Amino acid sequence: MGSSINIRESRVKVIDEARQGEATMGNATPENPNGKLLYIESYGCQMNFSDSEVVASIMSKNGFSTTKDLDNADVVLINTCAVRDNAELRVRNRLTEFKKRKSDNPNLVVGILGCMAERLKTNLLEEEQLVDLIAGPDAYRDLPNLVEEVGSGQRAVNVLLSREETYADISPVRLDTGGVNAFVTIMRGCDNMCSFCVVPFTRGRERSRDPQTIVSECVDLFNKGYREVTLLGQNVNSYRWNMTSKGEVKDETIQTTNFAQLLEMVAKVSPDLRVRYSTSHPKDMTDEVLEIMAKYENICEYIHLPVQSGSTQVLARMNRGYTREWYLNRIAAIKKYMPDCAISTDIITGFCGETEEEHQETISLMKEVRYEYAYMFKYSERPKTLAERKFEDDVPEDVKSRRLNEIIDLQQEDSLYWHKLQIGSVKKVLVEGPSKRSEEEWCGRDGRNSMVIFPKENFERGQYIKVKITECTSATLKGEVVEVLERNGLSPEFVV
Ligand code: SF4
Repeated sequence: MGSSINIRESRVKVIDEARQGEATMGNATPENPNGKLLYIESYGCQMNFSDSEVVASIMSKNGFSTTKDLDNADVVLINTCAVRDNAELRVRNRLTEFKKRKSDNPNLVVGILGCMAERLKTNLLEEEQLVDLIAGPDAYRDLPNLVEEVGSGQRAVNVLLSREETYADISPVRLDTGGVNAFVTIMRGCDNMCSFCVVPFTRGRERSRDPQTIVSECVDLFNKGYREVTLLGQNVNSYRWNMTSKGEVKDETIQTTNFAQLLEMVAKVSPDLRVRYSTSHPKDMTDEVLEIMAKYENICEYIHLPVQSGSTQVLARMNRGYTREWYLNRIAAIKKYMPDCAISTDIITGFCGETEEEHQETISLMKEVRYEYAYMFKYSERPKTLAERKFEDDVPEDVKSRRLNEIIDLQQEDSLYWHKLQIGSVKKVLVEGPSKRSEEEWCGRDGRNSMVIFPKENFERGQYIKVKITECTSATLKGEVVEVLERNGLSPEFVV
């Protein structure tokens, strides 16, 4: 393939004679006169799925509507994750499946978005010849231009990271079909430099979004029938509007807002709008946040509080910024304000230098906290991270696997322990839709984030019901519906 690379302002153009064609017009509809169809595939964390909805919105303003039919797509955008090796491997394997599609349809545009695009930048173009464009997490406004450049026979890149970009003015196009729960991104980037993590390099520095735009998005979602929002950020506890990272006021004329205050603002939208948030960082978890959570019934009694390791020495090597004692102090605070709060976590086994004693400290911490659920991984060394530069990835793979299996087994026991405790209790459940297993059963989650299965009857998505729990597995609860709750509307101050 004839190609040459001109580097300009971190936007790379590769001249490709074979591609001088225009997008086909066969898919024109009244909503989409240009008939251009966009297929988005998302991998990784909730932030990526939320970003894909921002991408769909930006592209819809430029004549693209989203399709779930890959065969019909004019543009395919893959929103990627770089948190572990196998996350990137999955995308590379997926790309091989596009070879045939590209040879069948040379006008098909394939783009890579997200953390892998930002981590690898132009190398990804060299390594993956069928990729036409790459855009980092802060460059999505530029996507229509990048697609246009590809349309005129060039390959295009924009991996500029921003200190300002929050896409606050973009109204996401909801890609999930459920229409009950939605992600709302409240901030972007991360200022923590955990030594194993690529996120600060792929998503840049922390910046918080204007709280008024967040509340308006939640009111809009409520009016569209959504009954649950999950406020998203790499570290939501450090959300601060109009404040410096030291908490100083930036502009005296503007109201400052921290996470506890934002949580209260969103909880006030409607008693029927359930509020969740993810992800917390133990070093920034304040009692003020826990107080607000305990004050509002519609703020779910569920906290995802990644610990990563139970050993203070390992936490120091991970540069997590807290000790085992501090973490357990936060767990005690949660239990003080909300005794029935469900807690989940993230754990990495086999981090650089982890001894058997340090691993046993993780086991003993898990036994002390007894998590409802945990995301558990073997340490996967990431290029250019602090850990890669400072430490040896010296825990043998078989030891990592044995330690991982030990904590998975322990977690299975604890997940079942907590679910068994729920039998006989009555749960307030938000109806989400059909259960995966049976047409006769529907499902929804309780405030503690457990999935509850119940007989279908004539329930509607977005309805609140009371379910008496009769049985369970380590993954789900099951029960009989004992009450259908009245619906509440928007709180008076939001009714226009
Ligand atoms: S808090 Fe740490 S682990 Fe989480 S995104 Fe930031 S740097 Fe990564």
